Amino acid sequence: MQNHHVSLNDLPREGKDFVVDDPAVWEDPIREFRMECRISSPLAARVHILPAGEGWLVRGTLAGEVVLPCSRCAEDAAVNLDIHFEDMAFLPEHDAGESDGAGEAQGWVTLVRGVPMLDLAAVCWEELALALPPIPLCAPRCKGLCSRCGTNLNENTCACPAETGDPRMAALRGVVLRKTGHS
Ligand SMILES: [Zn+2]
Ligand SMILES: [Zn+2]
Repeated sequence: MQNHHVSLNDLPREGKDFVVDDPAVWEDPIREFRMECRISSPLAARVHILPAGEGWLVRGTLAGEVVLPCSRCAEDAAVNLDIHFEDMAFLPEHDAGESDGAGEAQGWVTLVRGVPMLDLAAVCWEELALALPPIPLCAPRCKGLCSRCGTNLNENTCACPAETGDPRMAALRGVVLRKTGHS
């Protein structure tokens, strides 16, 4: 991976723009965390860093597309990304106790021989991780897999009895079946 550390001492007063499109910024942590996430359309981030008070305002966009497994049927679920983000970055020793901490990122800035350096790769990775849906779906109406035979109900039907949709009822039916089987 290229070096994506930016010296915050060299920033002009009006701030500076950076473009991050090195795939390793996202691919390396995806591999490291063994995430089931594939980049299907190149990711690119534009980041503007602006000195602001005791820290730096980190503002930008992230665009591209990733594919996650659908949480119902495990087929590909494409996630189109076109996000805007805005966070404050502070020196490592900054005391965040006085504020509510919302929108503040810690750990992005490190001191290298006394010079504060912002890790742009960490910013871009974190923004992707935050943008991923907790329950990815291949389609809003994905029917998922049959809980009995595993058939993908988007593609096929199966002969299993219709589910009530309530897993507690399914468990109850199992109990009743076992009882009759042993009596
Ligand atoms: Zn699905
Ligand atoms: Zn079935």
